[in-house]
Amino acid sequence: MLRKDFFSNETTHAYCLGIACDNLFGINWLEWEPKTVYQGIAELGYQPVSETNAQKLHAYRTGVATVLPWTDWLSFESTINGLNGVIVNFTKSTPCKISHLMAGMDILRLLQQQKFGDEVKKYIASCGKNAELNFLPDPLTFCMQYLCRPMYKCNDCGNTDVDDLSDGRCDFCVGRYEQGVLIDAPQKGLENRGTNITKFMEYDYFELANKFDAYKQLSEDKILLGISPLEIQIAKLLQYNYYRKEMRFQMNEQLQEIKHAGFKNV
Ligand SMILES: [Zn+2]
Repeated sequence: MLRKDFFSNETTHAYCLGIACDNLFGINWLEWEPKTVYQGIAELGYQPVSETNAQKLHAYRTGVATVLPWTDWLSFESTINGLNGVIVNFTKSTPCKISHLMAGMDILRLLQQQKFGDEVKKYIASCGKNAELNFLPDPLTFCMQYLCRPMYKCNDCGNTDVDDLSDGRCDFCVGRYEQGVLIDAPQKGLENRGTNITKFMEYDYFELANKFDAYKQLSEDKILLGISPLEIQIAKLLQYNYYRKEMRFQMNEQLQEIKHAGFKNV
């Protein structure tokens, strides 16, 4: 048997709660009413499931039994919040913290191997923007294209725009804008124009990314950061990364605990 407070203790990791339930009830618990699960846990002699852990279990279920967190931003948001033990109000949006996104993404990857839809990637990028970040650290970096957008400048007409070109030609020079409205195809006779373009990124985040990568290898007491905008961003990223590491550590410790309790599939 596990610790009696395994399901009541707020520090129990979402993934471990799920694995513990798999062991106690078999995978069918994923289809049970939440109340039945809580009752089953209590009947086995454990302290009652805390509200925070109920959120984690609910999010775990969503991540195992559906693909919604990968396709629907609102479901993604509530799942990430739930996995981190945030009490979710289902009637309104509760934007995710970056640290929660990082740790939550680690957990989602353990639940299913799915590709994220653009809607979710844009959501993650908007969380980064709200946190005033110029760089999304691992495991969120795959959403950078929505935070720091690829751009182009046309060297013929001077048009600068977001690079969403499918044919690599300046929208303006091939007449894709008609009275300010973007139309699908180049205008007749202009198809061959607009190739003299220079592509670039909205801004340069490589220094930030590289410095953060270097700093995160160091132990905390070796890091001394000032108050320049770059250093403030690095400090924020390090703080998020620290939370992610803490969550991983917690999970590994508790998985050992589950194993020692004689449970399988860990
Ligand atoms: Zn042009």
